[in-house]
Amino acid sequence: MSAPPSYLKGLDYSVFQQCMHCGLCLSTCPTYAATRIERHSPRGRIALMRAIADDRLELTRAFGEEMYFCLGCLACVTACPAGVDYAELFERSRAAVEESGALRSPRRDGIRWFAIRWLFMDLRRLELAGRALRLYQQLGVQSLARHSGILRLLPRRWRELEAMTPDIQPRFSADLIAPVTRAISQKKYRVAMLTGCAQDLIFSDINRDTVEVLARNGCEVITPPEQFCCGSLHAHNGEWLLAQALARKQIDQFPPEHFDAIISNAGGCGSHLKHYRKLLLEDPAYRDRAALWDAKIKDIHEWLIEIGFEPPRKGIPPQAVTYHESCHLAHGQKISDQPRRLLALIPGLKLIELPESAWCCGSAGVYNLTQPEMAGQLLERKLGHIRSTGASVVATGNPGCLLQLVNGAKVRGMSLRVVHPVSLLAEAYRWSARGAGAEMAGQGTVGK
Ligand code: SF4
Ligand code: SF4
Repeated sequence: MSAPPSYLKGLDYSVFQQCMHCGLCLSTCPTYAATRIERHSPRGRIALMRAIADDRLELTRAFGEEMYFCLGCLACVTACPAGVDYAELFERSRAAVEESGALRSPRRDGIRWFAIRWLFMDLRRLELAGRALRLYQQLGVQSLARHSGILRLLPRRWRELEAMTPDIQPRFSADLIAPVTRAISQKKYRVAMLTGCAQDLIFSDINRDTVEVLARNGCEVITPPEQFCCGSLHAHNGEWLLAQALARKQIDQFPPEHFDAIISNAGGCGSHLKHYRKLLLEDPAYRDRAALWDAKIKDIHEWLIEIGFEPPRKGIPPQAVTYHESCHLAHGQKISDQPRRLLALIPGLKLIELPESAWCCGSAGVYNLTQPEMAGQLLERKLGHIRSTGASVVATGNPGCLLQLVNGAKVRGMSLRVVHPVSLLAEAYRWSARGAGAEMAGQGTVGK
C-alpha cells in the first residue's frame, strides 16, 4: 500500500472545517499556557495545517518545528466542543513534515534511522540493547562513571541524557510470564497480553502484575514471548507507513476473533492501538479486521471495571496515594474514572485527588528528550502538585509518565514511590493471600 500523496492535502477537508476558532481549547494547552503565543495553541496549529492543505502556506522548517513543539497530549481534544479530531491532524502533520524533508539533517536522520527504523522495528534488537545496558548497570560501570566525575567531560546535554537512563529490569516479560497463564478461579475469558517495547525492558514487573491480576479475575492470558512494537512511536513521529506495517503484524499475531479482549497496560500505546482501523482504512485486506481489533483492545483499568474485578479482601499497609492521569489514557482513551475506582477498592489506600491530574507531565513519548526545556517546566509543575497532596505514592498508568516521575523525584531527592495502579492491586492480592509476608512487586513469576 502506497503512502497518501500528501498527508495533509489527502485528509477529509471537513476535519479542518470542524474547528470554529472558539478558543475553548486554549486554556488546556500546556504549550500555549507557557508561551501565550497563538501559533503554540491548538487553534493556531490547526490554522497553519489548514493553510498548508489550502496551498496558502509552504511547509517550512518553522512549521515542522511547531509540530514537534506540540506535545501531542490531546488535552485540546477533551476541551473541544466541536469534536475536532486533533489526534489525526497532529499525526498527519508530522507525517507531512517528514514527507517534505523540512527538518532533515544528517544528525537527525541518523538518530531517526537508528531508533525508529531499526531498533523499534524488531524488538529482538531492542532486547539486545536492553541486555547490554543491564550489564553496564549490573557490573557497576554506570555507577563508577557517575561517581568518578568522568561524565563531567561530556557536553551538558549528554550528561542530562545519561542521568535519564532508565534502570533495566533484571528479567524481561518472557522470563516472568508463561506463554499461557491459566485463570486462577473459573475461566470466564480468554485474553491476550501486550507486553510492549520499552515497557518490557523497564517495567516488566508491571506486565507480570497485570497478568497475575487478570488470572485472579477469571482470565486465561496468552502472552507470546516475542512481540512487536504497537507502532505508536512511529505514528507520532511521522512514520505512517511503518506504523501501518506494525499494525498489520499485531493483527496477524493476535487475531482479534480469537480473544475476548487484547490487553494493554500502557496509556500511550493503548490510545494508538485503538485506532488501527483509521490507520488501515485504505487497506481492504485489513480494514474489517482492524475494526474488530479496535473493539477488542482494552486498557487494563477499563477491562477490570468492565468485568467487575474482585476487590482484594485485605489491604496493604495504609498509605496515601494520588493519581496522575496519562494524557493518552485520559484524553486519548477517555479513561479517567476507572483507575480511580480501581484504587478506591484497594483496602489500605487513601486516594487524594491531584490538582491538574490530567495536565501533561512532560514525558509525551520522546518529548522529554527532544524538548527538554518545556518538558522540565511541565515536570516541575507536576511534582509541585504531587508534593501539595502530601501523598507518598503516585500511581499512573503509562510507562513514559512512570519514568518521567521516577527521574524527576530522584533528581530532586524527593521520597516518592511511583507505581502503576495494577501493581498496587497485585500487591493487595498477595497481601490478602499471604498476610504481612507478602511478596512485593518486582519479584516472582506468573503462570510458570
Ligand atoms: S496536543 Fe497538547 S500541546 Fe498539542 S495543541 Fe493539543 S493541548 Fe496543545
Ligand atoms: S479546536 Fe475546538 S476548542 Fe479549539 S478553537 Fe477549534 S473548535 Fe474551538
